[in-house]
Amino acid sequence: MISKVLIANRGEIALRIIAACREAGLATVSIHSEVDRDSLHVRLADESVCIGPAAANASYLNITAVIAAAEITGADAIHPGYGFMAENAHFAEIVQECGMTWIGPPPDAIRAMGDKANARRTVTARGVPVLPGSTEPLTSREDAAAVAETIGYPVILKATAGGGGKGMRVARDSRELKQVFDTARHEAEKAFGNGDVYLEKYLTAPRHIEIQVLADSQGKVVALGERECSIQRRHQKLIEEAPSPAVDAELRQKMCDAAAEAAAAVGYVSAGTVEFLYDDGQFYFMEMNTRIQVEHPVTEAVTGVDLVLEQLRIAGGQPMSVRRRPRLNGHAIEFRINAEDPVTFAPSPGEITELALPGGPGVRVDTHIYRGYTIPPNYDSLVAKLIVHGASRREAIRRAKRALGMFVIGGVRTSIPLHLRILEEPDFVEGRLSTGFMERFATRE
Ligand code: ADP
Repeated sequence: MISKVLIANRGEIALRIIAACREAGLATVSIHSEVDRDSLHVRLADESVCIGPAAANASYLNITAVIAAAEITGADAIHPGYGFMAENAHFAEIVQECGMTWIGPPPDAIRAMGDKANARRTVTARGVPVLPGSTEPLTSREDAAAVAETIGYPVILKATAGGGGKGMRVARDSRELKQVFDTARHEAEKAFGNGDVYLEKYLTAPRHIEIQVLADSQGKVVALGERECSIQRRHQKLIEEAPSPAVDAELRQKMCDAAAEAAAAVGYVSAGTVEFLYDDGQFYFMEMNTRIQVEHPVTEAVTGVDLVLEQLRIAGGQPMSVRRRPRLNGHAIEFRINAEDPVTFAPSPGEITELALPGGPGVRVDTHIYRGYTIPPNYDSLVAKLIVHGASRREAIRRAKRALGMFVIGGVRTSIPLHLRILEEPDFVEGRLSTGFMERFATRE
């Protein structure tokens, strides 16, 4: 059993975890950097410890400082949230070696899925479909060209240690592949300290459809249905929804089975997400995210399952409360509201001078901002998530327009106007989605 949880994160997800801990009757400890002193997660946790200067490397990514904060406060568990150290197997091991509970998957499962080339091999062995590609890291341009010839262009190079869209490069022919091979390796080396890359077939306009899974330490694995996250900019998600307009009951069953198989293959425990690309009636495993995701609330809305509360139960050794795949209720859409210019996407940090949050039927807002709060330039630009829920996709869209139209954030530029424009797009309204949506949207203007 656990009784006091240290949250190794900041922003909206820190608040989300505090909320779940309060419902579970668990005490909370927050950590913060010097620029985050006035953050809501500091005020709302039972205790808070300053762990270093603004730079993430010196604070939220500083293992020694985070562990020390847990020991000083007597925390017996650590929840990593998403980003920062959520998928750091080494950190998870240290937490466990210090006698604390890691609220996340076993370190070996993180490692097995964290190496994307290894993940591809592992799930393939269990019959989960993957895109044609290389099974081992590529050693040279010639090696890459040979694989590309056999599967056909276009291809995409990816960092085996990848994440966040870094180290990914598309090549349309052998000349382009030669040009981008070194760049991709370089970028991977810089971002992850590991320059290994592999390649797979590139789909030009697929849908990104992912499956939420929960697994407990009793060996039960349940897939909770899909989220469609095809509205992306530079491979970063902007809008996510559940269910997907492209998925029927038969496809859902197949994808849920494949996701549960992938999770079981690595002995998964806790909440995780298996990501697929879907094109022309076929789905292909892309990767597994071994953590809670930004877009988890849309699944919560349509299933009624509190995913973070389940993570706490599971980490405490209890069986998860979900016994089988929940029936889906209505339709939910999440809009990521970033402090950035809606046209150029340049970050727009600064003071929030005015704030009015929308509410009413079917509206949830997860945010850490308040009037007078200053968004620091040091971290990501996500300032709020608007999640709307309706009986149908149409109703969810109507509620989204109403809620975005009543969402007031003064002092910084945000992506609210961009979301309102996307909601007017016939392709979006009709559910004709693909990862190429934003590119078409931008070039048409
Ligand atoms: P990361 O871990 O960096 O986010 P992913 O492997 O999850 O990388 O891919 C992110 C996005 O990149 C996908 O949602 C999709 O839009 C695009 N992508 C990745 N692989 C392919 C592919 N083989 N074909 C087309 N698009 C791809």
